[in-house]
Amino acid sequence: MDFNLTDEQELMVASVKEYCERYFSEEQVREYYENHHVPVEVTKAWVDAGFGLLGIDEEYGGVPADLLTIGLVLEAVYHYAAASVPFINNSVAMFDITRFGSPEQIKMCVDAYHETGRPPFVFGISEPEAGSDNKNMSTTSRKQPDGTYRLNGSKTFVSDGDQYPYILVLAKEEDPSRDNPAVSMWLVSTKSEGVSFSPLEKIGQQMMTFCEVYLDDVVATEDMRVGNPGEGFKNLMHGLELERCNVSAWSLGLAQAAMDEAAAYCSKRVCFKKNIGSYQLVQEKLVEMETKLQTARLFMYKTLWDLDNGNSIRINSALLKRYTVRSCFEVCDDAMQIMGGLGYTKETRVSRLFLDSRGNRFGGGTDEIMVHIAGRELVKAYAQD
Ligand SMILES: Cc1cc2nc3c(=O)[nH]c(=O)nc-3n(C[C@H](O)[C@H](O)[C@H](O)COP(=O)(O)OP(=O)(O)OC[C@H]3O[C@@H](n4cnc5c(N)ncnc54)[C@H](O)[C@@H]3O)c2cc1C
Repeated sequence: MDFNLTDEQELMVASVKEYCERYFSEEQVREYYENHHVPVEVTKAWVDAGFGLLGIDEEYGGVPADLLTIGLVLEAVYHYAAASVPFINNSVAMFDITRFGSPEQIKMCVDAYHETGRPPFVFGISEPEAGSDNKNMSTTSRKQPDGTYRLNGSKTFVSDGDQYPYILVLAKEEDPSRDNPAVSMWLVSTKSEGVSFSPLEKIGQQMMTFCEVYLDDVVATEDMRVGNPGEGFKNLMHGLELERCNVSAWSLGLAQAAMDEAAAYCSKRVCFKKNIGSYQLVQEKLVEMETKLQTARLFMYKTLWDLDNGNSIRINSALLKRYTVRSCFEVCDDAMQIMGGLGYTKETRVSRLFLDSRGNRFGGGTDEIMVHIAGRELVKAYAQD
């Protein structure tokens, strides 16, 4: 086994660090959190530097890259920004549209992406009665005699839903009942008549807004459908295993930033006439934190390597996501503990990292749903005749 990064990967991580030094100083991060917004020049610079193009097809101006390298880049940007940087997920959105979209939809999205560093849409999947249990969704598209469709329903927890020109809405065809498997994806303009928003206030991950979206008799036409009719769920599932790896990479970056800050504080803070780093109870925390970071990192790199090499990650992507996001949250929690009351204020980065990393235990599937996915597979895998 070769655990070395390639020269190219080393260079990529170093360049991400430089990018973060330029666009994610602590002062800039605080401003983006305050405004719930990252300026377009920052997202555009990410794409112009080539990071945002990794893994996108070359015919759309992308740069070939394996998924492990992309994982390294995601980890690095969260680490060096010491913040949740939502726009880096944009390239994953581009994977979906370039795979399932019509030529016109692809062109519209690719052009917007190159121009602004953002695809023009966000995801509207979750509903008030359908989060983990997304088969329970009740948003519908109903065909009209004139060949158009009407969309009705509501979506919730839509990240940046009120900030982007379109929402990729998942809706059941005709019938909202639970056992109807036919679901389609629609690119709905946020300016359409019948689309309205209600803001939700998150406690962390503040670079983006959060909202509920209501669809009230919104008119849709066939050219707004993304992918084949009825295949929305199947298409959505396609990217979920990679998404679990990516959320793990984000968590790892956040936790490493918390470790950097807390471990450095150990040599500075004096209590009872000694640096707190000299006390074994504090050292034990550092040992636990470092063990979790290294274990999560190895597990993540191996899982992405498997994905790159065509091996199934059905079980491991769920085990990885659950282990990594939980352990990384614990690392942030211990980092806060090491910093004492100061860590509980907004003066330090660990308070932000603590709140942000907590959110990753929901997005991409909750801890419990990861057990639901991996647990039954493990029972099967270990069954003996
Ligand atoms: C920061 C953040 C960003 C998000 N961004 C988006 C977005 O852009 N677009 C979007 O559509 N959604 C988004 N979501 C929503 C996210 O996908 C959901 O929060 C997630 O799927 C969980 O659904 P829920 O919140 O409705 O919880 P529920 O599904 O109601 O679950 C509640 C609790 O019950 C547990 N539970 C549920 N079923 C089971 C079971 N079978 N066994 C054991 N326990 C179970 C869950 O694990 C959880 O602990 C985002 C969420 C967060 C926190």
